[in-house]
Amino acid sequence: VTVIGGGRVVVGDEVWDPAWVRVEGDRVSGVGAGAAPGRVDVDLGDRLVVPGFVDMHVHGGGGAGFPTGNADEAARAVAFHRSHGTTTMLASLVTAASPDLERHVRVLTDLVDDGLLAGLHLEGPWLSPVRRGAHDAALLRAPDSAEVSRLLSVGRGCVRMITLAPELDGARRAIGQIVDAGAVAAVGHTDATYELARAAVDAGATVATHLFNAMRPLHHREPGPVVALGERPEVTVELIADGLHVHPALLRAVMVALGHGRVALVTDAMAAAGVGDGEYRLGGLEVRVRGGVARLAGGDTIAGSTLTMGVAFRRAVRECGATLPEAVRMASSTPARAIGLTDVGELSPGRRADLVVLDADLAVAAVMSAGAWVGPASLDR
Ligand SMILES: [Zn+2]
Repeated sequence: VTVIGGGRVVVGDEVWDPAWVRVEGDRVSGVGAGAAPGRVDVDLGDRLVVPGFVDMHVHGGGGAGFPTGNADEAARAVAFHRSHGTTTMLASLVTAASPDLERHVRVLTDLVDDGLLAGLHLEGPWLSPVRRGAHDAALLRAPDSAEVSRLLSVGRGCVRMITLAPELDGARRAIGQIVDAGAVAAVGHTDATYELARAAVDAGATVATHLFNAMRPLHHREPGPVVALGERPEVTVELIADGLHVHPALLRAVMVALGHGRVALVTDAMAAAGVGDGEYRLGGLEVRVRGGVARLAGGDTIAGSTLTMGVAFRRAVRECGATLPEAVRMASSTPARAIGLTDVGELSPGRRADLVVLDADLAVAAVMSAGAWVGPASLDR
């Protein structure tokens, strides 16, 4: 049993100050306001406890990536993001040839069984050539129902989300297959019109993959996917809050218009996150990172981010005006709900003991994953 007390704790829509959290094994067994009953093992001082972050869209970090389908590398990426507060993540793959994707899905599915990953996210290969971003143009294709069902079955229920462009031939049928398999269909890397994006939601899509990025832009006579996805309450929109992918003013506008219960902060981070400038690969493509910005070599195209959820959380509060409970929603409970996870996303008795301790400056000071402290922590204990 570990009792953490003496600081502030975000619980639902409130900040309790002071408050305490009791952890037994890998579970939260109690949360309360005021002084902790009995002995306190970790005295928070002026620190803050929030639920562990849930990143539903991440390709890698700490020099390691998921799209290579290498188990050791994937484990390193998980460890990196965990130490920055992400206690639950989907491993996002990128567009690849079918045999490669199948092999990578098989390898990463084992990491889901081991509890390192909450599932996989296939970003591609069924994406728009004109909104492909950092996906290999030569490997993009329209969804073929046999390929869709093969990848879903190779994933044994671990493929939790698939991003696709709904304007492609066969996409509507693919959305049905994805939803029937219990996974989430996400609209992204798309040149769909407003009507086509609406039809995708009618067919069962419930997530907008990094809203605005790699998507037909909003136009007052052709509102496109941004409005079609934004106006449907069943859709959760991902936002990359690194200050580069989307202007902070637009992030604020979306948070106000949709509410924090419909916005999921994602990193879309690639291997360079936490490492620094240099040359990297994303799938089969060369990526150059300069000043923390990842771009495809030889061009301007942004190729993922070098963001962590800890930084995204802080930016949401500092630059987008989110309150602490609102930021917790966007970083934890909303993404958890969007991908169907009921065991994480909030600090409440019975849920997995995933929590992040933030210092007075909202920097990550310590992380607990399933009841165990992980990563480099500056917390005295
Ligand atoms: Zn991505």
